[in-house]
Amino acid sequence: MRSDPLTIHLASELELPGDWQKRMVVTHELAHVYQAADAARFDDGSSAADRLLASGLFQGSNEKMADCYSLTVLDEWSLRQGNVTLGYGYVCDATERQAIRDWAAELNAPTSG
Ligand SMILES: [Zn+2]
Repeated sequence: MRSDPLTIHLASELELPGDWQKRMVVTHELAHVYQAADAARFDDGSSAADRLLASGLFQGSNEKMADCYSLTVLDEWSLRQGNVTLGYGYVCDATERQAIRDWAAELNAPTSG
């Protein structure tokens, strides 16, 4: 997550020629918005997302968690399409996708694209 969690950085659309890429990137960034909303619920800055990461899900990475959110919401099983590869190199499994769905439900975040 970036130092200012409410700032959303989207790559130029010119760098994202296809609909798939745009949806994956926008949904990844949306996950960061919900990660920030999650942390904002707790006075000490802890979050449900942090607890998921600490338990070893998403290889302990909030970026891989955001990728998993995109993969889950868009029902995708690859970070690659054609010659374009997005994300942080890890495709999450069914257990992690269920954790994403539970987490999203807790935050009233979208769970389908
Ligand atoms: Zn990210």
